[in-house]
Amino acid sequence: MNTHRKLIVFIGPPGAGKGTLSQFFVERLQCNQLSTGNLLRRHIQESTDLGKSIDLALKSGKLVSDDHVIAMVVDWLDNHTRDGRPVILDGFPRTRAQAKALDEALTELTAALFEVTVVLMELSDEEAAGRILTRLVCSKASCQAVYSTADFKTSRETVPVCLRCDAALSRRSDDIPEALVSRFSIYRQHEKEIMEYYRTSQAPIITIAMNKDPETLFVEVQKRLAEI
Ligand code: AMP
Repeated sequence: MNTHRKLIVFIGPPGAGKGTLSQFFVERLQCNQLSTGNLLRRHIQESTDLGKSIDLALKSGKLVSDDHVIAMVVDWLDNHTRDGRPVILDGFPRTRAQAKALDEALTELTAALFEVTVVLMELSDEEAAGRILTRLVCSKASCQAVYSTADFKTSRETVPVCLRCDAALSRRSDDIPEALVSRFSIYRQHEKEIMEYYRTSQAPIITIAMNKDPETLFVEVQKRLAEI
């Protein structure tokens, strides 16, 4: 029997808090989460053929080709949509072609029927840049938990470690002012077309102002999702 299950798409500029909010949904609501950025960085760390071909695109803040990303996401969905949990997509879709491919994949893959809900996250480029330039991430490819330098009162000699897995934290290679300009401008170019796509397809859309602390945002997003 087909049942409706939630697939929540997080759309927002770099630094809006997609990864941080995803962590709450995974830990507290047992959602399955795909961050395409995390998966792509994992390919780079593991030096796969895909990883070697996309390293430069990530460092310079450009998008990876739709074909590569869509193939990767379809494969992930095939393996992570069978256990009945809600699904969070963080950083996908990023183009209209990806949004369309997602709908097609959901129609073709479904053992269950998915209801796509869009969470549109709003934050100014200035605020997002402030967060990105103080962001630390776990260096272990299978973890990549997100922190801020403000979370750690370290002396200069101590390298802060991940509270989940003890691996060292580091800065992302694309979290630098040079790549940020391109990342923001690419996001703004595509946000309009993706949102047009979802408005036309009549997917429920929740718009959230992200200039609040993560705990408050988690409660707010959960409440808004429950109201749909
Ligand atoms: P993120 O971790 O979401 O900030 O993504 C980091 C980088 O990975 C982006 O700047 C892109 O280079 C690449 N990337 C992540 N998701 C996608 C996607 N859906 N389509 C194309 N490139 C992506």
